[in-house]
Amino acid sequence: MNVPLLDLQAQYSGIKKELEKALLEVARSGRYILGPQVQELEADIAEYCDAKHAVGVSSGTDALLLALMALDVGPGDWVITSPYSFFATAGAIARLGARPVFVDIDAKTYNIDPVALNQWFEDHAEDAGKVKAIIPVHLYGQCADMTPILETAAARGIAVVEDAAQALGARYPGADGLKPAGSMGDIGTYSFFPSKNLGGLGDGGMVATNNDTLAEKMAHLRNHGMNPKYHHSMIGGNFRLDALQAAVLTVKLPNLNDWNRARQDNASYYDVHLDKVGMVTPHIAYAREYHIYNQYVIAVPERRDDLREYLTAAQIGSEVYYPVPFHVQPCFAYLGYKAGDFPNSEYAAAHTIALPVYPEMSTPMQDYVIDTLKSFYK
Ligand SMILES: *Cc1c(COP(=O)(O)O)cnc(C)c1O
Repeated sequence: MNVPLLDLQAQYSGIKKELEKALLEVARSGRYILGPQVQELEADIAEYCDAKHAVGVSSGTDALLLALMALDVGPGDWVITSPYSFFATAGAIARLGARPVFVDIDAKTYNIDPVALNQWFEDHAEDAGKVKAIIPVHLYGQCADMTPILETAAARGIAVVEDAAQALGARYPGADGLKPAGSMGDIGTYSFFPSKNLGGLGDGGMVATNNDTLAEKMAHLRNHGMNPKYHHSMIGGNFRLDALQAAVLTVKLPNLNDWNRARQDNASYYDVHLDKVGMVTPHIAYAREYHIYNQYVIAVPERRDDLREYLTAAQIGSEVYYPVPFHVQPCFAYLGYKAGDFPNSEYAAAHTIALPVYPEMSTPMQDYVIDTLKSFYK
């Protein structure tokens, strides 16, 4: 048997007719930049995320960049995030000339640890005023512990940008009810990279906000800061979402809850069958139905790399998200961190591995993965 980490063709064939119709419509319309398809998707995503506004952009990376630009993050500013995420989270901060500041993750959830965040402010009282924003990442599809993070930020007048690239459809039980990922901070950012739970046929992204001023600013900044045409009061860029991608995503969105549920079912099946096999299954911080399992990531105390080779030999796809935390990346050497500074991130980077959990995966495929893992530990 061959079990890939992800099978995009399986999803495509399930909705082929509708998708190809939508693609052809755009192709024949002659209208390819922004336009009605993008507006429709923006309205749908805003509703889905319980946000007042959503603005379509070119990628999850550009969504982060645009969010920080809208908050006027620049040289002299510090932005706190975790050292354990996809590169874009820290890259966006540094590209604007601001300083990425890292706070370790919680060992169980892999999300930024709110206790460590407060500790950072206690330990760095003299620099606290430089912090302009905090970017909690909802890693693997489960929300960071937002209530204490939002409290810390509010008490200090710091903006919060949620990196919800992996978490469209995830929810968080907050003080005032259940909140969609990306709707709790000042701005939420999403990615439609093909491997995300809602993926396009290429790159795409979205920013969401309840703030009218920020929404308008981001809508202009994604198009060179232009308003009206050829008049620029701000310097923006080309961060626009293609009409083709928007059309595809609008067709896919009504299926997202079912796909997320299928991932939850697959995760549940693994949880039951991998219990006591020698690995740590993903921690459910709130409730299974609030976690959308963009990745199903296990922690392997010993011989992680041997296990990965064993899976590869058995034709089972896997991946390490992410093998090198930001604080030890060569491009961030100038920040002055060293190995040992963030033990939980370093442990996760060295001991975790993502298994296939995509919605279309069959039970025999899951059984094969489970049996292979068991035989490795025998
Ligand atoms: C995928 C991802 C991004 C970047 O999204 P792109 O659309 O690939 O640019 C940012 N942050 C996280 C956590 C991601 O997983």
